[in-house]
Amino acid sequence: MYTNCSTTIWNVHCTCPSFSPYTLSNDEKVLSSVKLIQSFSGVTKCEVDDIYRFTLTVRKNYRAVPYHNWTHGYSVAQTIYRLTWECDHFCPLEKFSFFVAGLCHDLDHRGTNNQFLVTSCASLAALYSTSPLEYHHFNQTVSILQQNGMNILKNMSSEDYKTVLANIKHYILATDMAKFFGTSKKLNTQATNGTFNWANPEHKLLLSSLAMNGADLNSTALPWAEARLKTKELFDEFYAMGDSERQAGREPIALMDRLKLDEQPRTQVEFLENVSIPCLKLVNQFLPEAQPYLDHSFENLDHWRELMKESEKKRACLIRMNAEDMESPVSMPKIGGVEKAKSFRL
Ligand SMILES: [Zn+2]
Repeated sequence: MYTNCSTTIWNVHCTCPSFSPYTLSNDEKVLSSVKLIQSFSGVTKCEVDDIYRFTLTVRKNYRAVPYHNWTHGYSVAQTIYRLTWECDHFCPLEKFSFFVAGLCHDLDHRGTNNQFLVTSCASLAALYSTSPLEYHHFNQTVSILQQNGMNILKNMSSEDYKTVLANIKHYILATDMAKFFGTSKKLNTQATNGTFNWANPEHKLLLSSLAMNGADLNSTALPWAEARLKTKELFDEFYAMGDSERQAGREPIALMDRLKLDEQPRTQVEFLENVSIPCLKLVNQFLPEAQPYLDHSFENLDHWRELMKESEKKRACLIRMNAEDMESPVSMPKIGGVEKAKSFRL
């Protein structure tokens, strides 16, 4: 349906507040990416065939995991495009770097996190002392760019080439959430005491990192029905990781333990309160395009709080039933262990 749309239409379409990156088919996501990269042709001067080959190869190098897949990569690229498009403080080279970094930021993700790679002594963890996944995603990006007919940077001046590659590296590495609290603390201090300076490259990199984090968390900032669906996919991936932990003889954390389904609302409330909302609030001070995402995040927080209350009521009821059962001389069927966990269907 979108095949004949021009670059301009795609640009308008993807920056519209009601646009959802999750409504496009996999091919439409490729087409949208090509059109949006083409919108930077003034700085890249790259050929359209190279853009198609690059984008299709990026798609191919996302694995079929439940959450960190091609759809997630595209959604982050579209979100960072929307957050930065109107901002005159970012130059076209930076905006182009943001889009490519968003598209590539989780390349070859295996559905497991850095902690899992370290504890399971995976080879990637041995290769990089910090942020092993993010370094791998960046290196995958460079590998694709080095392939014949896929280098969408090849017609840039060597100075621009170096700048874009450095930007892409910084933006992809910033998606390691382990860095989030340190980065947000620094930017928050600058925002509060009024020392943030757009002309200071270090200040701008801090904001760029937070903007990437905000874009990476876009699935928590969608309208409720979509956010719920994306949360289910995320938990499918978490639980598969938890299963691997258990198989290896380690106890998974509650977030990744499918026997603790009732913990889902609490974890979402905590994540929104401590990470997503503070991140978007801060980004919104500099990039007003973050406002609709922030609004949805607050609405979703209310929904998750309601579900958390229901979950707590169910848990209290089960504890009471079990206590009564212990006291009763007539034995009732017991609800415990795995069965108890299964009774929490969200
Ligand atoms: Zn991501």
